[in-house]
Amino acid sequence: MPFPLARRMEFITASDVRELLKVTQRPEIISFAGGLPAPELFPIEELAKLAHDLLIEDGVRALQYSTTEGYPPLREWIAARMTSTWGASFEADDILVTTGSQQGLDLTAKLFIDEGDVVVTESPTYLAALGAFKVCRPRFVEVATDDHGMELAALERVLATERPKFVYVIPNGQNPSGRTWSVERREGFMKVMARFDVPVIEDDAYLEIRYDGHTAPSMRSFDTRGQVVCLGTLSKVLAPGLRIGWVAADRALLDRYVLLKQSADLHTASLTQMLAERWLTSGAFDSSLERIRDTYRERRDAMLAALESELPPGCRFTRPDSGMFVWVEFPPTIRSRELLARCLEREVAFVPGDSFFADATRLNTARLNFSNMPPERIREGVKRIGRVLRETLAQD
Ligand code: PMP
Repeated sequence: MPFPLARRMEFITASDVRELLKVTQRPEIISFAGGLPAPELFPIEELAKLAHDLLIEDGVRALQYSTTEGYPPLREWIAARMTSTWGASFEADDILVTTGSQQGLDLTAKLFIDEGDVVVTESPTYLAALGAFKVCRPRFVEVATDDHGMELAALERVLATERPKFVYVIPNGQNPSGRTWSVERREGFMKVMARFDVPVIEDDAYLEIRYDGHTAPSMRSFDTRGQVVCLGTLSKVLAPGLRIGWVAADRALLDRYVLLKQSADLHTASLTQMLAERWLTSGAFDSSLERIRDTYRERRDAMLAALESELPPGCRFTRPDSGMFVWVEFPPTIRSRELLARCLEREVAFVPGDSFFADATRLNTARLNFSNMPPERIREGVKRIGRVLRETLAQD
């Protein structure tokens, strides 16, 4: 590179796994690596008709610049949905529409992190959140998690000794572990947090993708101090290509997010905001969500049954009730990156788990996605991973 770049670029490097996974685009590969929704569930016909009507009826507004905060009727819908379904009571003015919830993560980094500041995350956590935060060069402190959520004694120790700028959590169908925090743990977490002046960034990408039981209450429902900032998205419940997400927060804080977004991209595309709003208020949302849940539940069940029967002894895996991922721990001698290279020779892929830790530890773990493959391909893919694992263990 002939030009001197900003110092931060020394810390922003392409992951080697990304290179390995480039081949997963080939159709013959059974890929558990991405986090893609099932494309056959996109409501293409309905959106085509709505887009046509939108452009004919309200084309100027859809194609003109608009306000940074977002399309008011969409903000209304989001606030109403969060209040009715998430247990997070917000008004339209508390919502900033973002370009995917990934932009919410990026703005969060810019809003809170100076170089060297501490950011607390679950262990493991969402890879691209680590990526978004890293640009501002924080020091990550990971808090251990169990099947119910963050371990609160460990969290308290961290909060008492460090001065984190925020705590980032994904309480539903966590990416990558697939875990959902219990209601008791959420309550306990917010009780601990209320003793410290530290905001909670709650990333709820998978809150509505729940297979068993009711939608769990957002952290915000236990928030007495306006401490919780919620990030939401239409990517998993409608279509990620629309790039619609949001930040919901108390107004004083939201205003700061608005300032940052203004400099980032002025506003999220009017066309997709208006199109999404038409679809969301057309009556199609609930039945579409039901179809997504039914399809993914079947795929999750296929993956869990296959893991149960195909993995050799010494492997453990989570049993997600929400989201799109299963987290697998192989026997300690296994190195997931080497295993991935061998699996790619058999045309099956996953993401090695070390990518989801700030310090790239836990080399024997993996994230498997189940939303993007039909059950028979899932069974075949897991069978192949099981075979490669047995061969590797036999060689060791
Ligand atoms: N948060 C989590 C936990 C995610 O898994 C994802 C997508 N994989 C995102 C945020 C970003 O999604 P989007 O920008 O499409 O809303």
